[in-house]
Amino acid sequence: MQLIDTHAHLEDVQNLKEAITRAEEAGVIAIITMGSSYRANLWALRESRRYEREGLRIYPALGVHPWNVNDSDLGEALKFVKENVDEAYAVGEIGLDYWYRGVRKNPEKRELQRRLFVELLELARDHGKPVSIHSRGAWRDCVDLVIKSGIERAVFHWFSGPQDALEDLLRHGYYVSATPAVAYSREHRRVVMNTPLDRLLLETDSPVEYRGVVSEPAHLLRTLSEVAILKGAEKNVIAKKTTENARRLFRI
Ligand SMILES: [Zn+2]
Repeated sequence: MQLIDTHAHLEDVQNLKEAITRAEEAGVIAIITMGSSYRANLWALRESRRYEREGLRIYPALGVHPWNVNDSDLGEALKFVKENVDEAYAVGEIGLDYWYRGVRKNPEKRELQRRLFVELLELARDHGKPVSIHSRGAWRDCVDLVIKSGIERAVFHWFSGPQDALEDLLRHGYYVSATPAVAYSREHRRVVMNTPLDRLLLETDSPVEYRGVVSEPAHLLRTLSEVAILKGAEKNVIAKKTTENARRLFRI
């Protein structure tokens, strides 16, 4: 079985070398590692490749996470993404998060996130790159802004938004990625259930904790098992389709 972890933050994974070995043993052949801050972008572009193995490629994405709009080095992070975007396989992780602390009831902070998001969407569009999108609590705005930007290739990572937003993004040819939360999150399960197999990707968002368990790319097998159960399909069928989808989206 060949699997692709389409969204991880490898710079934050403990004992990465060992984690990569376990991922390779689990059948992971590629990982897209996200850039979310200046530090993460630097690592993704300059360091991540050192952890590649013969059977497991690592592809850097560059971006600025909506949680980081107030970072003191935001300007540097943006500059780095802009100067190096052609070397990235995607622009990500970018997006909006209206549930982030202090943001829900603060229209100015939401506007700040939107401005950054639009700027990065336009960058990706102008350089022909796909985007990996964080959309927690801001599903509708995220889908609308991506459509409006004219971006052709996008994945809404860990999407858990309402059905109408899901239908809109699917209608525009975009993708959704499933995380290990598909085992227990009602909203995420509904999204995965209602996403056709040719638009679905697998991911771990490592090292995010799922019910107290720190994830690593080898846990892609958990995502795979749960998706197979939900879809009522064989694991190898899900693996084959989602890997094809990832190759198509990221052109890898
Ligand atoms: Zn992430």
